[in-house]
Amino acid sequence: MDNVEIKATQLSERVYMLTGMGGNIGVYVGDDGVVMIDAQYKGLADKISAAITEISEQPIKTLVNTHFHADHTDGNAAFARKGVNVVAHDNVRARLAANSDFDAVGLPKMTFKQMHSVDTGDASIKLTHYPNGHTDGDIIVWFPNSNVIHAGDLFFVDRFPFVDLNAGGNVQGYIDNVRAVVQQLDADTQIIPGHGGLSNRDDWIRLVDMMEATRAEVMAMKEQGMTEDEAVESGLSEQWADWSWNFITEERWIRTLYK
Ligand SMILES: [Zn+2]
Repeated sequence: MDNVEIKATQLSERVYMLTGMGGNIGVYVGDDGVVMIDAQYKGLADKISAAITEISEQPIKTLVNTHFHADHTDGNAAFARKGVNVVAHDNVRARLAANSDFDAVGLPKMTFKQMHSVDTGDASIKLTHYPNGHTDGDIIVWFPNSNVIHAGDLFFVDRFPFVDLNAGGNVQGYIDNVRAVVQQLDADTQIIPGHGGLSNRDDWIRLVDMMEATRAEVMAMKEQGMTEDEAVESGLSEQWADWSWNFITEERWIRTLYK
């Protein structure tokens, strides 16, 4: 953590993207205070706070979690201790509360099921839940008056996505959710992905196109009677090699698709 640098990029008058280690952070500077989306790791909380202070002298008022994974929520408690109100989907709170390693001070105080608006004094940030994709608590964050959204981990840029099958994730749901969101975007929409650089609609469509194409390859192997291990052994076609990365390797992606 000592070597991690938090870098801020301004995307619109009031919206910023922060990168460090873990899920990308979104920042909205409201008239009533700052709203941050995701918190990365607790060891980075001071650096993240400092980076936000550079952007605005307003206090951080609200922290929204896009889902429950630690690389987005581990910093929750550090911000909650400073009086920041943590907001997330109902299932995020339930999963964090069930994890004895999670600092309970950082549990979301405000939760919701379908949709929630965060009032910022000048406008509202809209949070919408999409069921069973990356996890069972994923939300999309719609920043007002800016054509910018935070996609959480429904968006991994040009790499195989993590679909958390043990936490309500589902490949078909992931594809359906992304298709439903991209319909509402235009070519100029700036998308903060969970992992990867600032992206656009076409980048996101490329992800779900890849998911469908690789799934078809794995389903064909399955229909030929191959076991999961045999499918891994056989591998995907060469064109997908670049999507493999250290966390979701080709092997892990094939196993996810096969399941
Ligand atoms: Zn995640």
